Amino acid sequence: MTALAHLERALTGRLHRPDADGFAELTAREFAALDDPPAAVAQVRTTAEVVAAVRGAREAGLSVAVRSGGHSYAHHSAGPRGLVLDVRGLDSVSIDPDALVGHAGGGATAGAYSRAAGEHGLATGFGDAGTVGVAGIALGGGIGFLSRRDGLTVDNVLAAEVVLADGSVVTADPEHHPDLFWALRGGGGNFGVVTSLTLRLHPTSAVTGGMLVLEPTPERLAAANQAVLDAADGLSAMINLLVAPPAPFLPESLHGRPIMLVLVCWSGPEADAAEALAPLRALGQPLVDDIGPRAYADMLQGPPRSPQPLHPVMRTGFTDRLDEQWAATAIEAVTTARTFTALNLRPMGGAIARVPVDATAFAHRHHAVMASVAAPTPDVTALPTAQAWADATAGSLGLVGAGYMNFMSERTADDVVAAYPGGILERLREVKRTYDPGNVFRYNHNVTPAPAGPGG
Ligand SMILES: Cc1cc2nc3c(=O)[nH]c(=O)nc-3n(C[C@H](O)[C@H](O)[C@H](O)COP(=O)(O)OP(=O)(O)OC[C@H]3O[C@@H](n4cnc5c(N)ncnc54)[C@H](O)[C@@H]3O)c2cc1C
Repeated sequence: MTALAHLERALTGRLHRPDADGFAELTAREFAALDDPPAAVAQVRTTAEVVAAVRGAREAGLSVAVRSGGHSYAHHSAGPRGLVLDVRGLDSVSIDPDALVGHAGGGATAGAYSRAAGEHGLATGFGDAGTVGVAGIALGGGIGFLSRRDGLTVDNVLAAEVVLADGSVVTADPEHHPDLFWALRGGGGNFGVVTSLTLRLHPTSAVTGGMLVLEPTPERLAAANQAVLDAADGLSAMINLLVAPPAPFLPESLHGRPIMLVLVCWSGPEADAAEALAPLRALGQPLVDDIGPRAYADMLQGPPRSPQPLHPVMRTGFTDRLDEQWAATAIEAVTTARTFTALNLRPMGGAIARVPVDATAFAHRHHAVMASVAAPTPDVTALPTAQAWADATAGSLGLVGAGYMNFMSERTADDVVAAYPGGILERLREVKRTYDPGNVFRYNHNVTPAPAGPGG
């Protein structure tokens, strides 16, 4: 019996090959794909099944791709030489309110975890979308509505259970496999299959958050960013610049107009909310202001879904000086583009900046602002134009040479170098050589055991 046939029996109907009914739905993800289908998809529900699948893949000479929330921009599927491990069945969530600790299975979503934690008035910070996988966001960094108060998601990971390339199961935490524990917090899915994460929880009974929409000017864009950087740590925000799409959450009068859409979250004392938000509200007459008390889980709405599958085009980087000239360049680029484009700013600082840079494999916490430009398109023939716009805009804004892995839509060796500057990439390679020397887990922003040649 072949290794995959053996696995097929062990998974009782949950190993699917490309000729199986529903294979396309099974491999569908948030974004449109150009990849060839994988050799098979294994739907796993337990750590023991993950072990069997990793061993089966190796015996069959296949590499392993992990599919959790399915939201990666770089669309890390596997080609015909790969087995996709669909870990969505590992969706357990448990909350220990006394210990302020939560546990999430390797396929649990940020939304499910946040709703469970919210029942106890607690939260761990993720991003802006509840449909993203906890493991997927946590392995890359995790920047969102609680980051300036509580740090990135990686800063709140206390331990991880991991199935390694040889099929062994280890727990990585500060005392056990500290090298692996360091690498998992920012180094992505390069080191094994995470079957569960232990996360720190923070009291968060409710937040004051929502959307503030303003007419964009260079002064306002720069001032909004500075207002968040100057605010108390309880204020986190995402500042978006775009031409308003015909989306139902925006008044029709705004459709087609350039807007600055600020998603804010004040997680400090409710009594201080008005004072904390005053500098943002003072930026000008809002076109929309729906900020109010909300459960943290309700903040995780994410961007509206496109009616057609999109090909993501994202360029991400960092900037330390966001002045009016920078803002004017961004506004000009976004508002004159011929297709849909957007700029997303995430002012950092606060608790993110208080963690030493080398404490985790997320390499960029010393910067003031994360900035991303996006030019998603449903039209594959429009990709070269969208990519050219994104490259040119990222270049003119100085967003090159360093990037956030979770926001990268490309996965070249140069992207990996940009994600892990300084000595971080070589340190990750050392960990890779220890835990996955054969590069079984290669369908990601791949940290190869040895440098991959020029630029790699
Ligand atoms: C709509 C949207 C909104 C987003 N908002 C934010 C945001 O606000 N902040 C932010 O920081 N990021 C955000 N992201 C980016 C997101 O964090 C990454 O795309 C992340 O990788 C998605 O994880 P996933 O599990 O959903 O995706 P998947 O595509 O399933 O996984 C992505 C990769 O993570 C690894 N991985 C996932 N689970 C495991 C596991 N159990 N074991 C081992 N490896 C695993 C694998 O390498 C996999 O290829 C957003 C993405 C989208 C699409």
